[in-house]
Amino acid sequence: MGSASTTKTSRTQEILRRAGESLVGGVNSPVRAFKSVGLEPLIVDYGKGARLWDADGREYIDFIGSWGTLILGHAHPAITAAIQEQAARGTSFGATTELEVELAERIKRAIPSIEKLRFVSSGTEATMSAIRLARAFTKRDFVLKFEGCYHGHADSFLSEAGSGLATLGIASSPGVPQALAALTLNAPYNNLTAVKKIFAAHPNKIAAVIVEPVAANMGVVLPAPGFLSGLREITERAGSLLIFDEVITGFRLCYGGAQTLQDITPDLTTLGKIIGGGLPVAAYGGRAEIMNHVAPLGAVYQAGTLSGNPLAMRAGIEALKILEAPDFYSDLNARAEKLTRELRAIISASGVAAHLNSTGSLATLFFTSQAVGNYADAKKSDTQRYAAFFCEMFERGILLAPSQFEALFLSAAHSDVDLDLTLSAVKESLEGLAAVRT
Ligand SMILES: *Cc1c(COP(=O)(O)O)cnc(C)c1O
Repeated sequence: MGSASTTKTSRTQEILRRAGESLVGGVNSPVRAFKSVGLEPLIVDYGKGARLWDADGREYIDFIGSWGTLILGHAHPAITAAIQEQAARGTSFGATTELEVELAERIKRAIPSIEKLRFVSSGTEATMSAIRLARAFTKRDFVLKFEGCYHGHADSFLSEAGSGLATLGIASSPGVPQALAALTLNAPYNNLTAVKKIFAAHPNKIAAVIVEPVAANMGVVLPAPGFLSGLREITERAGSLLIFDEVITGFRLCYGGAQTLQDITPDLTTLGKIIGGGLPVAAYGGRAEIMNHVAPLGAVYQAGTLSGNPLAMRAGIEALKILEAPDFYSDLNARAEKLTRELRAIISASGVAAHLNSTGSLATLFFTSQAVGNYADAKKSDTQRYAAFFCEMFERGILLAPSQFEALFLSAAHSDVDLDLTLSAVKESLEGLAAVRT
């Protein structure tokens, strides 16, 4: 475990200097900038299990896990071996392989609402394509999403979005045509009354409601009882499609989607992150009657040069094989339960105004005295205090998401020792914050 202090001549500083000259902001995705916690981007050298090492050899217990992708930790031996074996057999053919069929069959077995699916390479492509399909299928243009949910960076989703936009305080992005932005309607998460009002104001115009069935991009926010079933009823009655964006929740909470646990059948589902075993894989799928509108069966065009490439498919299949073990999720969730229970005890003993939202191996510590049930609540958090907490933890070798509005991801690779170290670091860090309380 290392300290975060760096010298001007360190490898990290040298790489950062070069990164700043060639990469925009030194990064290839804004959440990696560490701007909101007042630090410079982390330069990673390598990772193994729950740990990673930066360019100066400092070791961290990693709770980012490639933003939820690495439920098995870094460089899992079975996945690494599968990737190596496949690499020697070819990494992309631009033609179908049996591997695509196998991963698709595994996903269908785990998530029965998916009768047919299409693989793509990022969550953004999956949600963007799902919306195009929903618009074509319903012959309607409007889309309803929820404030603080993140569905990737396609034009239709960049208003009141979570994740990096929430972190940077960006309400909407320049470059999205006004005419298109006007077709995206926003409601507060967990607010069915607002949803009903929006439907009443746009009769027969809303193609789809897209929602994270557990929100994890404004920090973790759980669906209130009846919220998701209410959305199912409202959309069904209005002839709109219900899209569950399970890019984070898919294979995170159980072997399947959050929909499996909540017993709700969406029309379409988007997946990503975990299903690629650490390689770029995402998918959208759902009722065959809808999916059959996608080319080449239908006229809705969507394509991808590297979609379903064999390297990524092998990694995904290998990951799902491991996740399918009978005790995988009960073990992971029990460990997460223990971690969050002890975290809650430490928080309440510290006297720091904070709320821990959690479900399964997802959690967010919000620095606010009030419960957090939507984006407006989440935004009441003291982000400077989160930044101070992040830095305290970082100095103790614990890597949390560098933003109040993201989740902590526990993986199966985190050991008891990792969790004990984390809990004592939290205790010390919160004591430090309580001492400077105004
Ligand atoms: C990460 C994420 C996306 C976008 O996926 P990318 O692969 O980053 O494009 C979409 N929806 C949700 C819920 C996500 O968490």
